[in-house]
Amino acid sequence: MVYRKAPKSSGDGPDSSASSSDRPASSGNERRYHGIGSAKGFAIGETYEFVRETIEHETADLSPENIEEEVERFMTALHRSEKELKKIERVTTRKIGRLYSDLFQAQIMLLRDPVLTGNITSRIRAEVKPAHLIIEQEFGKFLEHFLKSDDLFFRERAADLHDIKERIIRNLHIRKLHSWVPEGSIVVSHHLSPADIILLSRSNIKGFATDTGGKTSHISLICKSLNIPIVVGLGNFSQKALSGSRMILDGSEGLVITDPADETVETYIKKREEESKREADDSIMAHRHAFTRCGVRISVCSNIDFKEEIEHLDQTGSEGVGLFRTENLFLDDLKPPKEAAQLEYYREMGEMLTPKPLVIRLFDIGGDKLIYSPVKEPNPNLGWRGVRILIDVPEILDTQLQAVIKANIHGNIDVLIPMISSIEEVMHIKQAIEKHYDHIKSLGHEPLEKPGIGAMIEMPAAVELIDEITRIVDFVSIGTNDLTQYTLAVDRNNLIVQDLFEKFHPAIIRQLHRVITTAQRNRCRVSICGDMGSDPLAAPYLIGCGLREFSIVSSDIPALKATVGKYTVEECEALAAECLKLSGSSAIKARLEAFVKAH
Ligand code: PEP
Ligand code: MG
Repeated sequence: MVYRKAPKSSGDGPDSSASSSDRPASSGNERRYHGIGSAKGFAIGETYEFVRETIEHETADLSPENIEEEVERFMTALHRSEKELKKIERVTTRKIGRLYSDLFQAQIMLLRDPVLTGNITSRIRAEVKPAHLIIEQEFGKFLEHFLKSDDLFFRERAADLHDIKERIIRNLHIRKLHSWVPEGSIVVSHHLSPADIILLSRSNIKGFATDTGGKTSHISLICKSLNIPIVVGLGNFSQKALSGSRMILDGSEGLVITDPADETVETYIKKREEESKREADDSIMAHRHAFTRCGVRISVCSNIDFKEEIEHLDQTGSEGVGLFRTENLFLDDLKPPKEAAQLEYYREMGEMLTPKPLVIRLFDIGGDKLIYSPVKEPNPNLGWRGVRILIDVPEILDTQLQAVIKANIHGNIDVLIPMISSIEEVMHIKQAIEKHYDHIKSLGHEPLEKPGIGAMIEMPAAVELIDEITRIVDFVSIGTNDLTQYTLAVDRNNLIVQDLFEKFHPAIIRQLHRVITTAQRNRCRVSICGDMGSDPLAAPYLIGCGLREFSIVSSDIPALKATVGKYTVEECEALAAECLKLSGSSAIKARLEAFVKAH
């Protein structure tokens, strides 16, 4: 058993419809294993343990006359690996778009790295040793460095490096990767690479469970895009899973259940049926505008991380992009993306969305996201992050602002500033936008509208300054993920204190009320973009405080739109007033639950 607390999930998701293999199996051996649910949804099916074949390599030194043959073998393996990766890259582009396929492009670039390949070939010749030993050692140098890093980003990228190494070594032996799995199974493996996920997903896999991996691993992001549930970080679960046995995988709760009892399977089948029905009902409603029962309009936009997600927004009834997290543009390259690349990216997004809005958040690097700092920070979440980096490194800010301003040819782009804690920070970015806008205009660019300026409200300091902030910006967006983290001093990624990460804490509830009402008083638009916006319990409270704009993960939009139609504003206002008087999270949640149940 893996004794790890399950992280809280933000909701459930769909799975494919019930099949005959979903019939309950009699079993008294039910076991539950907790990991990290990093792509939601649940699956019931047969376990398939995916194990890589191990290849016996010759370890003896080469005879001198075989040296050139060995170098040739290495070069052929590189060539084959590149061919395989190109194929995977094409499949990925077709399935989920360019950004993920760029990951494989990066792997291809590494295969072509003349320094790495040059070192390997010259060492084979000089040391008269088999290629696989030298490959292991040369990659090992980088891997050790990556794995020892305190930075999660590098530790996770070590997995990519390991995958390339394994691919080359396998190809020294002209062996194809065994990627066949029974159709519709749940794949369990110690480790899966992004390429494995892409290839295996062609067999209609219902879900994945891995011992390794984290919430931000590429495999998690890819599964989210493919809409396949995955539970990662399961410790040594793969040693216990038995191919052919029945299993339930709950990617929402980060839970896998082996040999589930009849009642458990029944519960999950029911859960899934309810989920499918709810989804079907919600998606009919999703294409209409959302109104409260008394006819007040509620707008619901999407939070997105990649341009490719825009193609799917219409299906969910999304009304635009309320938060585009740009830090993912740094994905495989710690250097900031060039202005031209950003301009093309943003312009394309603005064009795809017009006339719907696109809120581009300036790079929120640092903290728990992409680590940019050259030094190891003792407490990155309280360190060099978001607007602090933008102010200290003007090249990053200037490049991004110029790209955003030039991209705004349809006038539907706004800029959102992350991690605001002072008026000076807002003014700094505001003045930079004015300066760049005036300069770009003076160069005779086509008439461009100046993007609106928004501030993320995600620190208690910003809540304290909300009156001043909402007088100088066009809109504010409440980031409840960080607001909860910083208000309660609870690291949002620390599983040990996960139970204390309570968005219905009275301190948060009161801050939300203060921010929304103050913004309205100052005629400043206000929306929520933290995960709390997706929570059906939170919706009536937020509406009761006066919130009319939500930005949430797209897949949750149909459900939110359906929820808001159940209440009148008056009912929500009375609910909010009651909650504001309560001083405990449990009491607040109980009141919200009772309200939702009564409708
Ligand atoms: C938030 O903090 O609530 C937010 C939306 O931003 P992120 O999750 O990207 O930090
Ligand atoms: Mg945030």
